Amino acid sequence: MRPAWLEVNFDALAHNFNLLRTTAGHVQVVGIVKANAYGHGAVEVGKELLRLGAWGLAVATTQEARELRKAGIVSRILLMGSLHPQQASEVLELDLIPSISTLESAEALNALGKAVAVHLEFDTGMGRVGFQPEEAPLVKEHFARYENLLIQGIYSHFADAEEDEPWTREQITRFQQVQQVFGPGYFYHLCNTAGTINYGEYGLSAVRPGIGLYGLLPNLGLRPIARLLAKPTQVKELPPGRRIGYGGLYTTQGREWIATLPVGYADGMPRLVFNRATVRYFPGPEAQPPEPCICPVVGRVSMDQITVRIPAPVGLDQVFEVVTPDFNPTSSLWGWAELTGTVSYEPAVRLSPRLPRVYLRDGVEVARVE
Ligand SMILES: *Cc1c(COP(=O)(O)O)cnc(C)c1O
Repeated sequence: MRPAWLEVNFDALAHNFNLLRTTAGHVQVVGIVKANAYGHGAVEVGKELLRLGAWGLAVATTQEARELRKAGIVSRILLMGSLHPQQASEVLELDLIPSISTLESAEALNALGKAVAVHLEFDTGMGRVGFQPEEAPLVKEHFARYENLLIQGIYSHFADAEEDEPWTREQITRFQQVQQVFGPGYFYHLCNTAGTINYGEYGLSAVRPGIGLYGLLPNLGLRPIARLLAKPTQVKELPPGRRIGYGGLYTTQGREWIATLPVGYADGMPRLVFNRATVRYFPGPEAQPPEPCICPVVGRVSMDQITVRIPAPVGLDQVFEVVTPDFNPTSSLWGWAELTGTVSYEPAVRLSPRLPRVYLRDGVEVARVE
């Protein structure tokens, strides 16, 4: 196996799943595994979410759904986003539950002549996709005429359940108007992670947490589920004045030990974090309890490699944590996001499929994807 890999902790996943589900009053959980399960590996994470009792999985593209089906996953799969009419036949082929936001896609799907369950999406304040709430009576009328479409679920999506309470309350009110038009008997869902945490009482039939499953929001009791690990491919001592990396953006000050780790921006490490990010390792088994050595990333992040300054030589079997499973400002996915002015979703989804992934449950490896 390549000496750089993503380790995914299913115990932390279970912790997050149960925390979110409890917060929402034990309603169903739609396991969001779009974008390769936010970089963690959709097939293995998806299987584990189903094992934990998820109602089903949700993806953004038919390609993502195809990968799950190919891996033998037979669960419900909700295709989020507004279905494009040209993808209607793939919905049937892959046995998906599409999200319908337009009459064009409804008609294209209905015309295929096969019964299919759908979820209607309403735009209560995101402005992206979904029927307008005031169109609900009309939509209901139209759907009564589509003999092949069975409305199974009805949902909407929050724009800012993290911070904007008045707007979120407005969205909830608009969704309730839709619920009044359609009445009981539907699988209603509204809450993403932030919605689940802040408005858990509106869990309705199910919640749709993504980022929370992966534990990438701080201060909520969630636990990041992944570590990015690497072993050095070279460890060397350099004299003062040696330049390191593209552009020579770091020069050794004194005699310095430099380790090269085989991960780079093609693996998802942001190129911009050079000279600011850190990695860490726990030296020797003697130290009880071991204090980690915090090592700065020195010089530019290359496509496939980084260089780090270490306090003392280590062997090539020393494991470094390039991403720590916490909210460390310089060595976590959340920290990388902070350092690059984005949200933790982005460094997560950029974790490249080329990284091998190792899955642990109860500390024991249960799956490996190379
Ligand atoms: C991505 C997505 C989610 C999950 O959002 P998080 O903020 O990651 O919890 C839920 N619902 C829809 C429609 C989405 O596109």
